[in-house]
Amino acid sequence: MSRSRRRGGSNTLADDAGYPGTVLRTATRGIVLRRRAHGTVEVTAQAGEPLAAPVAHGVHAGLSGIEYLSGIPGTVGAAPVQNTGAYGQQVCDVSPTPSAPVPAPGRP
Ligand SMILES: Cc1cc2nc3c(=O)[nH]c(=O)nc-3n(C[C@H](O)[C@H](O)[C@H](O)COP(=O)(O)OP(=O)(O)OC[C@H]3O[C@@H](n4cnc5c(N)ncnc54)[C@H](O)[C@@H]3O)c2cc1C
Repeated sequence: MSRSRRRGGSNTLADDAGYPGTVLRTATRGIVLRRRAHGTVEVTAQAGEPLAAPVAHGVHAGLSGIEYLSGIPGTVGAAPVQNTGAYGQQVCDVSPTPSAPVPAPGRP
């Protein structure tokens, strides 16, 4: 049986005939900021968080890099899959490290 991993579904069109499989909706929440050596900060965000949430945490911590992405709908889980970007900033610029496998484009 096929399966499809979704969160907000804001980038998804569904066939009126339905989907012959299982749709997984990621609902994990949580954001942790860790100060590292040499002035770097590691931000860990669960896949079910709205993308705007870690962006806001980062801005409040004085970080920059993806602050222009705050108004984009969707979740952290989808951001590295599609490399969410706007106004010259994109998620890959801040080196996200998904801790769960990200499916190849075109695969559920
Ligand atoms: C009004 C509007 C404005 C937008 N503006 C921009 C913009 O400026 N720049 C931009 O880049 N995008 C933009 N988008 C697109 C937006 O970024 C995506 O619609 C959104 O990020 C998708 O997130 P989602 O959580 O709804 O993912 P879904 O639509 O549910 O999924 C999108 C993809 O991510 C995968 N995925 C989702 N969650 C996970 C997970 N936990 N693990 C693995 N794979 C997962 C899905 O399988 C699917 O392939 C815009 C969309 C809208 C509606």
